[in-house]
Amino acid sequence: MAWFLNHYKCDRCGRRWTDEWSCMCDDECPRCGARDMTPYDSDNLTTVIEQEGVEFVVLLSPETAEHDPEYREVGRFPTRKQALRFSASAKD
Ligand SMILES: [Zn+2]
Repeated sequence: MAWFLNHYKCDRCGRRWTDEWSCMCDDECPRCGARDMTPYDSDNLTTVIEQEGVEFVVLLSPETAEHDPEYREVGRFPTRKQALRFSASAKD
């Protein structure tokens, strides 16, 4: 399981919206209520990097996450570059 930010566009009314899910699930249009809209794009948010003071913290959403990402800290680095390298290897 991973964590995704899904991007949707309604086939019926053209409304665009995003939602976070633990999968690339279908969603319901917030404007017209059309069901079973499939995301046209999806960002993988399984790992995120947040700056905390002078450090960059790598957060990972565990396999068990279901209703929210339940981020856990997996590393702290002095530069964003190091944090990015670590997060890229953590995703595999
Ligand atoms: Zn709609």
